Amino acid sequence: MQQQLIERDQAVNWHPYSQMKTSLHLPIERGDGAYLFDYNGQRYLDMVSSWWVSIHGHANPYIAERLYKQLLTLEQVIFAGFTHEPAIQLSERLLALLPKNQQKVFYTDNGSTAVEVALKMCLQFHFNHGVNRKKILAFKQAYHGDTFGAMSVSERGVWTAPFSDKLFEVIFIDTPTAENMDAIRHIIKTHEKEIACFIYEPLIQGAAGMLMHEADHLSALMAYCKGLGIFLIQDEVFVGFGRTGKLFAADHLTEEPDVMCFSKGLTGGTMAMGITTCTNELYQAFYAEEKKKALFHGHSFTASPIGCTAALASLDLLLAENTQHNLERICAQQLSFKTVLQEMKMVKNVRVTGTILAFECSISEKSDYFHAQQEYLYQAFLNKGILMRPLGNTIYLVPPYCISEEDLNHVYDVILEVIQDSSLLN
Ligand SMILES: *Cc1c(COP(=O)(O)O)cnc(C)c1O
Repeated sequence: MQQQLIERDQAVNWHPYSQMKTSLHLPIERGDGAYLFDYNGQRYLDMVSSWWVSIHGHANPYIAERLYKQLLTLEQVIFAGFTHEPAIQLSERLLALLPKNQQKVFYTDNGSTAVEVALKMCLQFHFNHGVNRKKILAFKQAYHGDTFGAMSVSERGVWTAPFSDKLFEVIFIDTPTAENMDAIRHIIKTHEKEIACFIYEPLIQGAAGMLMHEADHLSALMAYCKGLGIFLIQDEVFVGFGRTGKLFAADHLTEEPDVMCFSKGLTGGTMAMGITTCTNELYQAFYAEEKKKALFHGHSFTASPIGCTAALASLDLLLAENTQHNLERICAQQLSFKTVLQEMKMVKNVRVTGTILAFECSISEKSDYFHAQQEYLYQAFLNKGILMRPLGNTIYLVPPYCISEEDLNHVYDVILEVIQDSSLLN
């Protein structure tokens, strides 16, 4: 069965971020909590929460029940000219948890489109006011998604090269440290009157390889931008909903952003959905008698009742006492494993923010080994029943919050085995 499905898949499916000639895609029959099961009965601990979305693990019965009831009640209704209780309730509950200045919710389909809407909100704010502020500020090594606007504000590389002439210009700055703050301020100052907004991944740049910066430095940079009238777009698509140990990255920061983006953990990994929230100040620039001032953006499935219900159910689970205990326990486990890793010679730059642990593993210094190393590590972990997706030589853990203490300790043991085995390759 397993082999048949691989062949049928190869005949018809084109997978994301994959060189189809050289990649293999494992058929998965079912999931249960932190585990995925293939058709041979082999199980895998999902230590990437299936691309960082499945915060409560797989096939959660509570979310399933809620969705089943909603599907029998109202599966979909056009969100222009109509509304529904799940969207109203989700917006009310979410806004109550976000920084106080967040007052309106705009629904989209995923993280990339949540980012597109955030950029449009800030750019059209100035357009509606007849002000010429059009430039956008972003971090180097940023990742904000794969649509054209989101690609434009992300780090450029082999993955954007075919479209480079179609991407708009962005001012890229380093992530803040104690040392470079003055240099960053100087760059911003030279463009101050032209910059509409600053978009950033707060605390952790996920796709760049789990790069981390300090909350204090980010808060200082946010305050500086605010002082210059630059809107702050906080992309919490990855870090939102508990990843950093607190509900939102915003809970670590002293400044409030103007716009926030959410997706990934939003529905507990059940449905594709995105959310962009904003301040009343931004909203008011669109609120007028004239139709042309409106935000002309929407998707067929905007605020799908199913997506909203999944998000409501996921929120119930996230706020439940046992999940909050698990989160604390996972954060503590990651911190103590950090001290173990720091003792190892072939391990560099061990870092932890909340539930996320990452480090670089030096199997070989040779750069042409880079890709081979990623493939080697991926396969080595998979062979031992653990799903990880190293980024280059960066190994990281993004566990589902339901993982047990024993299972996480088992993952640590396997990591130590794999890096010790792989050091024999030198
Ligand atoms: C994944 C991600 C996105 C894009 O989200 P999609 O749902 O994949 O479109 C945007 N921003 C950040 C920070 C992300 O990690």
